[in-house]
Amino acid sequence: MPLIDPFDRHIEYLRVSVTDRCNYRCGYCMPEQGVHPEGHHSEYLTFDELTRIITAFVTLGVKKVRITGGEPLVRKGIPGFVSQISPLKGLKEIALSTNAHHLEKHAVALKEAGLHRANISIDSLKPKLFKEITRGGDLEKVLAGVKAGIDAGLNPMKFNMVVMKGTNDVEIEDMIDFGIEHGVEVRFIETMPIGPAGVSMMDQHYPKKKILQRVRDHVGKDLIPCTSQSHDGPANNFEIQDTQAKIGVISAVSDHFCESCNRVRLTATGILALCLGQEDSVDLKTPLREGISDEDLQALIVKSMKKKPERHFFNENVHNIEFRQMVSLGG
Ligand code: SAM
Ligand code: SF4
Repeated sequence: MPLIDPFDRHIEYLRVSVTDRCNYRCGYCMPEQGVHPEGHHSEYLTFDELTRIITAFVTLGVKKVRITGGEPLVRKGIPGFVSQISPLKGLKEIALSTNAHHLEKHAVALKEAGLHRANISIDSLKPKLFKEITRGGDLEKVLAGVKAGIDAGLNPMKFNMVVMKGTNDVEIEDMIDFGIEHGVEVRFIETMPIGPAGVSMMDQHYPKKKILQRVRDHVGKDLIPCTSQSHDGPANNFEIQDTQAKIGVISAVSDHFCESCNRVRLTATGILALCLGQEDSVDLKTPLREGISDEDLQALIVKSMKKKPERHFFNENVHNIEFRQMVSLGG
């Protein structure tokens, strides 16, 4: 039975946050002290539990899984986890979102385990500013991770840059060139008001319209909207005229893409979140740990889809999402 919500949207994409911890502290995402300084390891789903839930989703028609976080590569054993889910029949794509700090070490093992591709967050190409934005990040390690990922074949890779007015917006042009140089699509992301960190950064929000103008002015060519939007995310993708190069803008604040939303999110502690910008959710961990059968787990997931809301309200009501954490929701 396919997963269809009350608005006739087919759910084919599951984003899985494997941890809400991270070695970086990007100002729009994480509080400076991290999210769980005291640690609650038993609350996280084990890889076997995650695999059971993912298996149920794939049986119900999910074709793509993204492993995210927090920083997924701070959790030990991710290549092993990928090899648990990669044989699932019907699962066409396994992707990773990472800050790439640990990617150099794991790229080959991840590829061999069955990971298809990686999206990498890079908000600055200047080591000092990169360190400030991430509160301690090491650009050199990230660039080594990018190279290792490309060499290992985690392609098509994408670079994600959250554009912040007065902080890194001067680097939009450098980032376009960096993407072209590596043959990698750059996706510019508008800051979203999710969690106290995200809300606190909204004064640096930089809108899609201005980003696209800057891209056009820099490349001196038209941007041709891509006709086949991938299932990768709510990005507006464009081809730079007369080139193979692509750019994308994720503008959840300027626009909303809710009518074509095809995804749900699983938090590291087993909560199924039905919308990035709304609270509607279903606890899957408790029934799992109480011994639910595979059939009943599938039935619970099918029933959960009824709770998927029609759309988010980032513009209308910032405060209803202020208490949420991007690291739990996985971006
Ligand atoms: N640690 C990984 C990374 O940084 O790619 C994966 C998790 S991170 C939560 C996933 C994506 O969410 C990243 O591209 C990050 O830039 C983005 N993100 C986090 N907080 C955000 C916010 N408030 N507004 C817009 N994007 C945000
Ligand atoms: Fe960590 Fe990614 Fe959040 Fe930055 S955006 S703090 S790298 S989880």
